[in-house]
Amino acid sequence: MAFVLEIETSFTQKYIKNYIVSIVRRFNINATVRQDKLKIVCAFASEHERLQECLEAIAQELPASLFLKSSKSYENDEKPDKLPELENEYPLNLALCPSCQKEMFDVSSRRYYYPFSSCSCCGGNHSFVTSYPYTRQNSSFKFLAPCRNCQDEQLNVGFKETHEINSCHDCGVPVRLVNKTSERYANDSGSFRTMFEVAAKAINDDKKLLIKTTFGYRVFYKADKLNSESILLMINASKITDNLSLITEEYHALLSIERPILNVSVKNEKLKELLGVNTSYVKYPDEGFSILLSTELQKLGIDYIAYEECNENYKADMIMDYDLEVRSQSDMRVFLNKDDLFIAEGERVSFPSHSFQAKSLVSVAHEYVALPQDEKMLFDNMENFDSISVDKANVLEGISEQFHTKQMTFLQDEASFISVIAEHNAFNKRCVGAYFDEEPSFLYYDGKNVLRIVPPKEFDGSKIVEDIKNLREGSDRLIANLETNVPKIYTKLLALQTKESVKLFEAVAILLGLKDESMRGVTKEAMKFVGKGGIQIDTHVKDNRFDHAAFLASIISYQLAGVSTAILSYSIFESFGDYFNDILQELKGKTKATEIVLCGTHFANQSLFSRMQRNLKMSPPLVNKNYPIGKENAVVGGVFL
Ligand SMILES: [Zn+2]
Ligand SMILES: [Zn+2]
Repeated sequence: MAFVLEIETSFTQKYIKNYIVSIVRRFNINATVRQDKLKIVCAFASEHERLQECLEAIAQELPASLFLKSSKSYENDEKPDKLPELENEYPLNLALCPSCQKEMFDVSSRRYYYPFSSCSCCGGNHSFVTSYPYTRQNSSFKFLAPCRNCQDEQLNVGFKETHEINSCHDCGVPVRLVNKTSERYANDSGSFRTMFEVAAKAINDDKKLLIKTTFGYRVFYKADKLNSESILLMINASKITDNLSLITEEYHALLSIERPILNVSVKNEKLKELLGVNTSYVKYPDEGFSILLSTELQKLGIDYIAYEECNENYKADMIMDYDLEVRSQSDMRVFLNKDDLFIAEGERVSFPSHSFQAKSLVSVAHEYVALPQDEKMLFDNMENFDSISVDKANVLEGISEQFHTKQMTFLQDEASFISVIAEHNAFNKRCVGAYFDEEPSFLYYDGKNVLRIVPPKEFDGSKIVEDIKNLREGSDRLIANLETNVPKIYTKLLALQTKESVKLFEAVAILLGLKDESMRGVTKEAMKFVGKGGIQIDTHVKDNRFDHAAFLASIISYQLAGVSTAILSYSIFESFGDYFNDILQELKGKTKATEIVLCGTHFANQSLFSRMQRNLKMSPPLVNKNYPIGKENAVVGGVFL
């Protein structure tokens, strides 16, 4: 007989499964642990005397994850006859698991205040990979020989079994802290602890500190220095809900092992004032350096600071670094509300990955590549691979490099669209969908090929004043009115015409007079609106294309009528939500499609997505599950075009 534990998850990465396997191996219990697209199924030999103990350890030690849902248990007649195996073909960049964090704060451990603490299931491990297969030799740790104790851990059961880049104070990486006048080094418990104490004090004294973290360069500073690129780091878990207004799901997501960046409502009045809006991107400390720094800051009575991702050239007052190559990944930003959760953008946690059936091709998009390895496709940063022999290459438009004599080019929106179809294995269905990243486009999949029905139209601001004047009869009066009544906006409109390659939402932000002249600025402004319904902004289609001039003219006329920027911003997304819905429903009717697909990072917007959820209640849209809905999913789609 076997005792079966079944955990529901729609995420296919193996770290949670490996964590369970590690615990089971430690208790020496025969078991099978399988993972498919919907669940992790663990069947334990039920007669084992330590089974109860093992289950309790799983309940206690398993990190909380964004992607774990309900679990259930039952018995079946399986007879597991060996220990389950770890599946560590590639490492990820995750936050530290509870047991690695515990070790880092245990005075008696070999990793007390050691920022490179991690195990085979957690931590910033992918950052150190230089090529495949994943071994210490193919990592930036290759010049550091592990000490006897670390080797033992790698060879024996436990969380550090097979941990290729295992290290500790005795065999690890020394770190230096440098400012204009002094330099200090850390290579043991005492010196590391002092270094983080000194670093925290410097931040408290209004200094900016640049750290080469295990997730790449980050600059840390007090929250009163924040700017539009800053992310708030909530360093005191017990004070998070004093400062932020979170739904339960957001709170759990912040503390999960994936430690995503979330866009949430701010409660603290002082913070709202600093931000100039009432929402912010926030995160809870994730990797070793950030956690140790936060711990010391918390001792100084600080509950939150700010940081930015940057590079080594950032001019800070102080720098903490070391001699080891680190390849950072863009961070994971998650969209979540009561009903839905998806990855909005970023590489971390989604890449590398090994999924879908192998094909004899490479897909190249942005910095990523997909290539066949064993039975499946491996997706990761291009830098980690040498050449491979395949039948053809599918390459994203705009990449000029020649990878193969048989090379095909694909488009971002088409690739994103088909990546969703691939993730839902909807290849035998007809689908219509929208891609939205700056410019909206509409697509159709007939069960075989992808067709762009409404192609994206690049925004051209160079003649925008003329375009608005010629829009329809009387439109020239709108411009004349603007010039006399709101000369400030008129000047901005003129300035748009001379600016090079302006994006549509940049233009919107400029017209609205927002400080953050981007989609992000408009999104944040929209979150200020607390009323119920917005006003109708013109989102009509001319010659099968989105009409930019009509859209901007509509915004201008509301401004002339004195409508506030918050209502306008909110209404823009609400109107876009209706616009997408109208066209998608029409296309669905015409094509007899059964599925609606949404992709493109602009859908990760509370105002827009809630509108879409409301509009598409009867046929909930398909979105990516394992990959971001943003541009990163193109490398996945490239496999199927
Ligand atoms: Zn760990
Ligand atoms: Zn060691």
